[in-house]
Amino acid sequence: MLDTLLTNGTLYDGTGADPVHGDIAIKDGRIVDIGRLAGAEAKRTIDLKGLAVSPGFIDLHTHSDFTLAADGRAQSQVHQGVTTEVIGQCGFSCAPINSAADVAIMAPGFTEGMVDVDWRSFGEYLDHLDKMSLGVNVAAFVGHGTIHRAVLGDALRPADDNELDTMKGLLDESIDGGAYGFSSGLEYWPGSLASPDQMAELVGVAGKRGVLYATHVRNRDLFYDIGFGEAISTARAGGARLQISHIQPKHGAPPYAMQHAINMINEAKSHGVDIAYDVIPHDWSHTRVSAILPQWAQEGGVAAVTARLKDPATRARIKANRKPMWRLVSDGLWHKIVLMQSTVNPDLVGLTFEDIGARRKTDPYDAALDLLVEEGNQMSHLMWTSQSFSEADIRLAISQPDCAIISDTLALAPEGCLKHHIGSLSGYGWAARFLQHYVRDHGVLTLAEGLRRLTVLPAARLGIRDRGILKKGAWADITVFDADQIASHCDVAEPRRFATGIAHVLVNGVFSMLDGARTTDDGGCVLRSH
Ligand SMILES: [Zn+2]
Repeated sequence: MLDTLLTNGTLYDGTGADPVHGDIAIKDGRIVDIGRLAGAEAKRTIDLKGLAVSPGFIDLHTHSDFTLAADGRAQSQVHQGVTTEVIGQCGFSCAPINSAADVAIMAPGFTEGMVDVDWRSFGEYLDHLDKMSLGVNVAAFVGHGTIHRAVLGDALRPADDNELDTMKGLLDESIDGGAYGFSSGLEYWPGSLASPDQMAELVGVAGKRGVLYATHVRNRDLFYDIGFGEAISTARAGGARLQISHIQPKHGAPPYAMQHAINMINEAKSHGVDIAYDVIPHDWSHTRVSAILPQWAQEGGVAAVTARLKDPATRARIKANRKPMWRLVSDGLWHKIVLMQSTVNPDLVGLTFEDIGARRKTDPYDAALDLLVEEGNQMSHLMWTSQSFSEADIRLAISQPDCAIISDTLALAPEGCLKHHIGSLSGYGWAARFLQHYVRDHGVLTLAEGLRRLTVLPAARLGIRDRGILKKGAWADITVFDADQIASHCDVAEPRRFATGIAHVLVNGVFSMLDGARTTDDGGCVLRSH
C-alpha cells in the first residue's frame, strides 16, 4: 500500500525537459514510481488535473540561520513551494561561536531571548536545528565572517598566519560537523578585512573537502570587475567550485557590467573553473543600514559604535565616508531608500529616508544614523531597501543557463514570534514572483527551464542527487501549483502577504500544504554534507 498517489499531473521533472502527464507514487518519504499508475492503492490519492507538478523548490541562498532556530515552520517559504533552504550565506552563520552573545552579531534577524543558544560548534548548531520541527529541509553553509570573528573577536584587522591556520581548522571542523559549503561576505565587516590570498587559502579548504564556495563579492558597483575577478581567482587558486551570490550589479556600476561579468565567468569556465551564480528575482535591493558605516566606525561592538555616532565630530567623519556600501547614499538619493525593518521605530517602516528626515526635521543621513543609535543592541538588524537593481541586468542574468534563482531572505511567519520580522521585500513572494513575472508574464524562460533554476540546478551546485528532481528513488519533495495563477502579493506597504497559486507541497513525503492551505505537519530535516 502506497502512502500517497498523485494522479493526472503535468509533471516537470526539474531537468528542463518538456512536461509529461502522469502519476507519482510515494512511500516512506520517497518517490517509488512515476508513470501511468491507475489502480495503485494508496492511503491518500489526490487528483492533480490541470496542475503543474515540480520538484520542491530549493532556495540556494537564505539568511534563515536564526529564524529557523526560533520558528522552524518556515511559513513564508512553504507557502511558495520551497522545500529546501540553504542558510549561512554572505559570510554570516550562527556557528562556530565562542559565547551565546556572538550570535547577536552574526545572525540576521537575531532577537534577544527568542532562542536558547545551546551550541558553540557548527555540528552542535545543526543538532539544535535538528530538534526543531522544520517545515523545510535545511542545508547550512558556514560563514567566513563568523569564523573570522570566532578567532579575532571584534579586532579590526586581518588575521595573521597563525590565526589564518586556526580559521582553516575551524572551517574544516565545521565541514566535519555537516556544513554544506563555505560562504563569504567580502563587502561586510569582518569579511572586508580578508585579503584575496587569505581567502584563497580558506577556499582551498572548501576545495579539498569538495564543498561549494559561495561569495557575496567585495564590490558590485564602481569596482564590480575587481569584485567578480577576485571571486574567480580565489576559486581557481583554491580549487573550489564557485557560486557567485546575487550577481546583479548595483546602482553605480556601468550599464555593461552584467554582460562583462558573464564574459569573465564564461572565459574562466572555458578553462575549467567551475562557476555558477544566482539572482534575486526582484529589482529591490536590501541590506543592513550599519553596512554604510566606514570600516573603522564598525569596530568594537554596539557600545563603541553608539559612542561614535553620538559624538558630533566623529559623526561628521562618518558622514564624510567617501565610499559607503551603497552609492545611493553618497549620491544623496534618499528618496529611493526605504526603511524596511526596525524594532524600535516600526511606525517609520515603509517610509523613504527623505520622508523620515522631513518628519524628524533633520538631514536624511542623520536620520539613518539616529535610527541606528535608537535600535541599540539590535543595531545590525536595522534594514533598508531600494529599487536599485536594473531589470535589464536581472533578465540578462536569468537568460544564462548557469543562473539559479534565490530569495536572499529569512524564513518568517506573519504570526508567532517572528511576526514583526521582515527579511526583504520579496521574502514572502520571491519564487512566486519569478514564475509569475519572469516566466509567465515576460517569457524570459519557459516554465520547464524556469523550474530547473529552482530545482535541479541548485541541487547540482550543492552536490545533492536525490532531491530537486522527480525520479524514482528521490525524496518526495514536491510542489504542485497552478502555473496560470501563481503570484506574489508583496509590496513595500504590505511585505507579509503569502504567495498564492500553490496547491500542495510535500517535504519528504509529508504534506506541508494541502489544497492551498498550510497543514500543521512539518516534514523537513537537516541535511548534512558528511
Ligand atoms: Zn549577500
